[in-house]
Amino acid sequence: MTNQEHKNPEIVSNAFAGKHALITGGGSGIGAASARALALSGANITLLGRNKERLESGAQTLNDTGRTIATVQADVSDPDSIKSAFATAKDQHGPISILINNAGIAPSAPFLKTDLDLWNQVLAVDLTGAFLCAQQVLGDMLKNNNGRIINVASTAGLTGFGYVSAYCAAKHGLIGLTRSLAQETAKKGVTVNAVCPGYTDTAIVSSSVENIVGKTGMSDRDAIAALTAHNPQGRLIEPGEVAATIAWLCLPSSSAITGQSILVAGGELM
Ligand code: NAD
Repeated sequence: MTNQEHKNPEIVSNAFAGKHALITGGGSGIGAASARALALSGANITLLGRNKERLESGAQTLNDTGRTIATVQADVSDPDSIKSAFATAKDQHGPISILINNAGIAPSAPFLKTDLDLWNQVLAVDLTGAFLCAQQVLGDMLKNNNGRIINVASTAGLTGFGYVSAYCAAKHGLIGLTRSLAQETAKKGVTVNAVCPGYTDTAIVSSSVENIVGKTGMSDRDAIAALTAHNPQGRLIEPGEVAATIAWLCLPSSSAITGQSILVAGGELM
């Protein structure tokens, strides 16, 4: 990109024209907001997720962007389902040059109540899922000398929190995967970064709030205040704020940024 292009919002706003972006867990929350941000900047979109209805209603909300929007049903923890979903996505829109590994679950439990099934499930979705999806796209990215992989990690990827040991382990692992893959691809036109949101106003947080209210009898408001107590801005992050950072990392002008874990957390962990 030339300096002139940087100054021209029209060109930046069309920065992903002709690119194919696939977003896992793209039917809700941060994934849906990211799909919108990328589509508004010109990308054709594939939303990948387990729930057909949610994906289709997510796709409908993107119709006003004027881009081609497709959906594929898959569970990121199931290697066969991922393989066939990515093959379908590629048939529909061509090679994927932007992958947003966003699908995730965040169940909480004290460590002694974290049984092996829960542990394995969280690692399978939040860590192995990103590995499986990255394996499906990296070959084309290397061949085309162009690609962006964004892993949606968390503040829980950079520090420990009680009662979410499996989630913290998976998100720390996701940051390790990000750094390693960034090293391996650094000279090959591909960047790999993580974004680390603080508590963000999505279904995951609504269920944490419900959980706290159910267990402690606190009001919703006090439960949200407890969750945001470590955020210096004292508020939930908006999904669109995370999406804007994801879209920025995907820009051609962000090509020198790789292997990073960008906090979007109102100053938490500064
Ligand atoms: P969300 O529940 O709206 O989104 C998670 C998405 O992942 C959903 O669409 C869900 O259906 C999908 N998903 C879950 N398991 C899946 C599977 N096995 N296969 C395919 N899709 C699956 O919540 P969100 O907050 O938008 O979460 C998005 C990402 O952001 C997650 O990785 C989460 O860990 C991360 N995150 C969220 C917060 C927060 O406070 N909301 C903070 C930090 C990080």
